[in-house]
Amino acid sequence: MKPMLVSALGLLAVLSLPSPAQQPFRWPDGKRVAVSLTFDDARQSQVTNGLDLFERHRTHVTFFVNPRNMAPQMAGWKRAVTLGHEIGNHSETHPCSGNFAFSRANNLEDYTAERFAADVDAATAGIQRLLGVNATTFAFPCGQKYAGRGAQTQSTVPVIARRFLAGRGFKDESANDPAFCDLAQLMGVDSDGMSFTGMLAQLKDAESRGAWLVFAGHNIGAEGRQTTLVPTLEQFLRYANDPANGVWLDTIENIASYVRKQRAAAGSPLAK
Ligand SMILES: [Zn+2]
Repeated sequence: MKPMLVSALGLLAVLSLPSPAQQPFRWPDGKRVAVSLTFDDARQSQVTNGLDLFERHRTHVTFFVNPRNMAPQMAGWKRAVTLGHEIGNHSETHPCSGNFAFSRANNLEDYTAERFAADVDAATAGIQRLLGVNATTFAFPCGQKYAGRGAQTQSTVPVIARRFLAGRGFKDESANDPAFCDLAQLMGVDSDGMSFTGMLAQLKDAESRGAWLVFAGHNIGAEGRQTTLVPTLEQFLRYANDPANGVWLDTIENIASYVRKQRAAAGSPLAK
C-alpha cells in the first residue's frame, strides 16, 4: 500500500503547512509596529498648538470631532484637512454615562442604539457640510459602547461597524493585534499627561507583538487636565519618525485600510 502511504504523507504535509490566514501579519516596508495619534472633541488647543507641531514633524494624526465644537476655528479645521490629517466622527452631542455630571442631561442610559445612530449620522452630515469630508472612522464618546440600562442595554458597536471602517475606545489597556482585532472597537490608550518614557514603553510593548498602538488624547499643550503634553509629543514624534526605529505612524483610516487589505489578501475570515 505504498502509494497510499505516500499520499497520506503528502496530505499530512499539506495539512501542516500554515494556511495563509495563519501567516504572521506584516506591516509595510519592514516596519515592526504601527501607531496612531488621535485627539477627541475638536478642542481649540488641537488647532492652536497641534497643527504647527505636526506639520513640523510631517506627521498625520486623526482628529475625532464633534462638528459644533469646530465653529470658533473653521479656518483652522480646514487647514487640518489641507495638511492631510484625518477628520473622524465623535458624534453630534457627545452622549456619555449620566454618571458624568456633564452628560446627565444627555446620558447613554436613556439612549437606544437607534437614537445613538441618529446622533452619529448628524455628525457625519455636519462634518461633510463644514469640511467636505466623508468621515470613515469613529471614536466612542468617553469610550462607552452601550445605550440603555440593565436588561434593556444595547451595544452600539454594530451601529459603528455598519457605518465606519473603524471605531476607537478610550482608556483601554492594550495595543491592537492587527490579525485579530475588531476594527469596530479598537482599543485606545490615554496619552494625556503621559511622559515620553511612558509612551515609549507602550510602543515597545506593542512592537514586541507587532501590534498597532492607538493613543487617544484631548488638549495639546504644555500643562493642564486632559492634555497631551507638547514636550512629550516632540520627543515621541522624533522617535517615531526616525526610520531606524521601524515605526509606522499614520492615521486610523490609513492603518485600518491596510489591515483590512492584508486580511483580504491572506484569505482571513475576518476580512470583509
Ligand atoms: Zn470626547
